[in-house]
Amino acid sequence: MYLSSPTRYDSMTYARCGRSGLLLPAVSLGLWHNFGGVDAYENGRAIVRRAFDRGVTHFDLANNYGPPPGSAEENFGKMLRDDLHPYRDELVISTKAGYLMWPGPYGEWGSRKYLLSSLDQSLRRIGIPYVDIFYSHRPDPETPLEETLGAVAAAVRQGKAIYAGISNYSAAQTREACRILRDLGCPCLIHQPKYSMYERWVEAELLAVLEQEGVGCIPFSPLAQGLLTDRYLHGIPEGSRASKPHGFLQSSQVTPERVAQSQRLNDIAQQRGQTLAQLALAWVLRDPRITTVLIGASSVEQLDQNLGALARRDFAQDELAAIEDILK
Ligand code: NDP
Repeated sequence: MYLSSPTRYDSMTYARCGRSGLLLPAVSLGLWHNFGGVDAYENGRAIVRRAFDRGVTHFDLANNYGPPPGSAEENFGKMLRDDLHPYRDELVISTKAGYLMWPGPYGEWGSRKYLLSSLDQSLRRIGIPYVDIFYSHRPDPETPLEETLGAVAAAVRQGKAIYAGISNYSAAQTREACRILRDLGCPCLIHQPKYSMYERWVEAELLAVLEQEGVGCIPFSPLAQGLLTDRYLHGIPEGSRASKPHGFLQSSQVTPERVAQSQRLNDIAQQRGQTLAQLALAWVLRDPRITTVLIGASSVEQLDQNLGALARRDFAQDELAAIEDILK
């Protein structure tokens, strides 16, 4: 029987998610890759157990994570039953709906029909009566935001989710979404955008909107799916995301220019006594508007290394300038 480490809260730091009462760990774990039906269950189980043993209380899912779609939620449900069930109230479990999940006109995007049916399916797969955060996974250009966010707020009112979140919304859509959710008496807790050294769109406007609206920020793919680690510094290794047919990172994205950039960043990391992954995570967390970084991991070793980023989060001005020089 699994017993979680009694020291699990000793070294993790927690930050308030926007102007809510919810505290989130500096590092959250996502189950997009490596936890599906095609993956080894015991490996995923070991990663999740280790994460919780080190104070990672937040686990991020979506209806479509797998492959096959739905299987990451099924596997996480099994982990809950096998190991984490006694700790349910120490966990923040998130799921989302927005991308393609089933055929026909009601299996994706942002209708109330889709979102509420999808959440019911997610709860059945995970085997729990409610999730902690339910997200609109992406804005739907053909559905009024009022309908999409009305469905998220309805899920909260029905007790099937505790908080409401949005993902992949632009700065303007975010402002509008926050207004709608506030009017519905269900404030937006959190926004989940893509953000890393290699993907910086949030800096232009979104982070300022989130601060004004009192909404937390949980960047996904802070390691650029592995490009901001030592994974691809010397080619595309067997078993890496870019080597897998179902991996979302294409081998064509591992360009010589990117690898050269990562090598230069790796030099800075080494001067700081960090790995490149640790540097990349500390860099995202440097901004106080970032609540938590949402990482992926394919092994316990990667998870441990990434949590090591928290030991050195400060940056000298000349280090930041040297990083900007490489990224420009
Ligand atoms: P990352 O950028 O953290 O990439 C994770 C991958 O990087 C791992 O699978 C692993 O790849 C590699 N890696 C991680 N740590 C190390 C390390 N220390 N050394 C070497 N390689 C390492 O995040 P993800 O792209 O996985 O996204 C994280 C989460 O964000 C997802 O699980 C999901 O929950 C969420 N997400 C949300 C989206 C949205 O639209 N809202 C979209 C995408 C993600 P390898 O497998 O090659 O070992």
